[in-house]
Parts: sequence; structure tokens; C-alpha cells
Amino acid sequence: MKSTIRNIISTADWTAENLEKLLALRGEEQKELLGMGGETLLNKRGNEVYYRGLVEFSNVCTKDCYYCGIRKSNRNTERYDLSDDAILEAARFAHEHKYGSLVLQSGERDDPAFVERIDQLLKKIKSETNGELGITLSLGEQSAETYRRWFESGAHRYLLRIETSDESLYHQLHPNDEKHDFKKRLQCLRDLQKAGYQTGTGVMIGVPGQTLKHLAADLLFMKNFDIDMVGMGPYIEHEETPLYVKKNQLWPLQERFLTSLNMVALLRLMMPDINIAATTAMQTIDPVGREKAMQAGANVIMPNITPSNQRRNYLLYQNKPCTDEGADDCSNCLSIRLE
Ligand code: SAM
Repeated sequence: MKSTIRNIISTADWTAENLEKLLALRGEEQKELLGMGGETLLNKRGNEVYYRGLVEFSNVCTKDCYYCGIRKSNRNTERYDLSDDAILEAARFAHEHKYGSLVLQSGERDDPAFVERIDQLLKKIKSETNGELGITLSLGEQSAETYRRWFESGAHRYLLRIETSDESLYHQLHPNDEKHDFKKRLQCLRDLQKAGYQTGTGVMIGVPGQTLKHLAADLLFMKNFDIDMVGMGPYIEHEETPLYVKKNQLWPLQERFLTSLNMVALLRLMMPDINIAATTAMQTIDPVGREKAMQAGANVIMPNITPSNQRRNYLLYQNKPCTDEGADDCSNCLSIRLE
């Protein structure tokens, strides 16, 4: 690796220009960067991998994000909402299999009935697992009051991707209305931190119109925000979404994947102590994509423990892997892969 590049890393000289340069590395130089990410993880956090059982309990959504397959206006998706019993069963599965935490994710709703349902579910999960199972929520934008209420009822981590930290790019990816307001999303991240959550965010990599400059700014955003966890991965197009018309402008899938690996390695070097997820979207492009992300510095994996008869309906993007396995298959397969 050229000495200037080593120099940037060893002196932690994380300027936007330097990050842009490092994000573009390929070939032998990239290999070295990824190796440094992996080594930093081992030195700072050891070789422990954290499992968070992911339950995608509903694809009912009130938002209309231009990239997402479960957006409200996609009429070609069968909507589902798992029963509380099915969610509780998944929680028991995670607890019995010694997962550190359960992640509850769904399409976005903020109506009083939904807020109350989550509140009750949190209390039930806590009591049924003797308070031992950590609970992470990924339920989008809510009021500060709702975040506080769910925190008091037992959730202690929250994932809310900023998607992109560039306001103008954000508006190219979302309808321009108050339901999709960049400033509101930022405020939500602040509200989550204030409520006491370990707060996670992340971005999509390779959306139309995005450049390495945007991604360098995203890395600095996560560092400046002093984020605790990150889940980021390649954007993967879905033909039932408005963004699909821009498919010819996209970087090739392999480029989106390689850039995602560089993002993971750089973030690990910039923020050695945080939790970084190896995301499912990485595996969509490369069959061992999540394992490669771990070698570059990711330390969290989120096995899908959604009952498999509904998994095929939580299609955020096409060719999403493991939509036909049960929870047991998923965790057996993963332990073998991680070993
Ligand atoms: N509605 C909640 C929210 O916005 O945080 C949680 C569910 S949302 C479906 C979870 C994440 O899926 C989003 O933050 C987005 O980054 C990701 N996602 C959606 N469509 C995607 C696509 N086409 N490619 C890659 N990731 C996608």
C-alpha cells in the first residue's frame, strides 16, 4: 500500500478528501485496507460475534420511500402482520438459542394502536425471557414521547438509518412531504440518543446520484454523531419502485459491494469500539458477502428468525436471500459460515 495511504490511516487523518480516496481503493490496496479493518476489530473487540435475531413482523407501511419494495403504494405485495403469539415465539427462540438480542422491524406506523401494541409486546417479551433478552427496535420515525415510552418498557437499542446524510440526495430518494422530512429524521436520531438508547444508523450504498464524496460525508456524519451501531449495505433495485427507472445509472452490483466493504473497514478504523452489522444485502450480491464484511471489521450478524411462511413478503429488494428457510436452518447455517 502506498505510504500516503498508510499515513492517513495511522494518523487517523479522516478528512473528507482522504476518505474519498480510500473508498476508491481496489485490488491489492483494497485487500490491505480490509485486512486493517479486520485486524482493528480483533485488537479492539476480540473475535466475538454478536447475534441479533431479526423478526420482520409486518410489511404494512405508511411511507412511500422511492427505493423500498414494501412502500405503501406497491400494490403488488401481499401485506401481513404477525400475531403477538408468533412474535413471542420468535423471542423465545432467540432467548433459547442464546442470542444477545432480538430485533423487531416492520414497515412504518405511528398510530396510537401500533404504539400501544409495541409497548405491550415489549413488556411481555421482557417478562417471558426473565429480562435476559435485549430488545432492539427498528420501527422508523416516532415522537420523542413514543421513543421514551418504549425505552421504559424494555427496548434499549434502536436502529434508524439516515439512508444518506446529504439532504439534497435524501430528497431525491423520498417524496417531498412532511412524512419524509430529512430534518425530522435527524431529530429522531437525537431524540433516540436523548431517551437513552444505544443508537444505530446507516446508509444505503450505491443509490442513483450518489458519489464517493457523499459516502465520505456519511462516514464523517456517523463519527460526528457518535453513533453506537451501524447497519449499512448496498442498495439493491426493486422493479415495483419508482427508483427502478434509474437502474441504468447504477454502479454495477460488484462495485456497490466492494464500496460497501470499504465503508465497513473505514468505519471500523474510524470508530474501533462500535458495533457494525454485516447486512443481508451484502449476501444478496455475494454468497459469502456477510463473512467478507466480518473480515473487514463487522461484528454483528442478524439471523432472520421471522416465521418463514411470511419472509417472502418482506421483500425490500429483489433476490433477498434466505426467504425460504426456517429460524433453525438459518442459525445452523450461520454458525457454520462464521466458524
Ligand atoms: N421503516 C423503518 C425505517 O425506515 O427505519 C424500518 C424498515 S425499513 C424497510 C429498513 C431499511 O431497509 C431501510 O432503512 C433501508 O435502508 C433498507 N432498504 C429499503 N429498501 C432497500 C433497497 N431497495 N436496497 C437496500 N436496502 C433497502
